[in-house]
Amino acid sequence: MSAQGTLFIISAPSGAGKSSLLSALMQDRPKDMQISVSHTTRAPRPGEEDGVHYHFVGQSEFKALIEKEQFVEWAEVFGNYYGTSQTVIEDTLNKGIDVFLDIDWQGAQQVKKLMPNAIGVFVLPPSKAELERRLTGRGQDSAEIIAGRMAQAVSEISHYNEYDYVIVNDDFDTALADLRGIVRAQRLTLTSQTHRHDGMLKGLLAESL
Ligand code: GDP
Ligand code: ADP
Ligand code: 5GP
Repeated sequence: MSAQGTLFIISAPSGAGKSSLLSALMQDRPKDMQISVSHTTRAPRPGEEDGVHYHFVGQSEFKALIEKEQFVEWAEVFGNYYGTSQTVIEDTLNKGIDVFLDIDWQGAQQVKKLMPNAIGVFVLPPSKAELERRLTGRGQDSAEIIAGRMAQAVSEISHYNEYDYVIVNDDFDTALADLRGIVRAQRLTLTSQTHRHDGMLKGLLAESL
């Protein structure tokens, strides 16, 4: 019996660094970890590729996907729609691969309800001033969009206590080590290890030598 993958939900106010942390994490062990690629109606940023960062779709296509019940969750965030495909997640978890969702708190609540074993991780910036510096420094959004995201930041941060783990992304390498630690700990839980080492445990527990 091989272990099911774990579903990790990563949320943060925009600019706190969750995308950077997730892409750094994927450099480690890409074979047993995968980021779920969401669908969005937002326009691609410079350098973003369809099917890699997001599946970029129009409003009508997004609505059709909702009607076909293709999403495990979807939400309107900053005036655009974002959603997570159900089948991709389930198929990947069944292969024993950990899946990471980079989704907002509304989506996180929906996923937790449907999949209570999912592990929630909230990423906090060290301060509001630093959050604004990062959003500006990223250089990918207009001043208006940055102002909108800063205005939403407090309401997003207010949901931090609905998650299982909290990472403060002040020093990036420390935050990355924290995220790696959470993933590693999850692989060592009784349930995970019992599935993973089924055969070995049978041997160890057999009365005869
Ligand atoms: P999101 O799209 O809203 O999820 O956010 P991003 O992933 O685009 O990252 C936000 C900010 O983090 C940017 O201004 C980056 O320059 C900064 N950043 C990302 N990675 C690093 C890093 O390894 N070290 C440092 N010092 N800054 C980083
Ligand atoms: P999010 O995905 O949460 O919106 P990003 O990962 O895009 O955030 O990070 C926003 C910006 O902040 C990026 O330009 C990223 O390079 C930068 N950044 C992330 N973490 C840190 C950190 N610990 N120190 C300084 N800058 C950071
Ligand atoms: P961005 O436009 O910066 O890539 O993402 C904006 C916000 O939308 C982030 O808070 C991100 O976590 C969230 N988001 C991205 N994909 C999804 C998704 O599939 N579902 C939900 N609910 N939120 C998402």
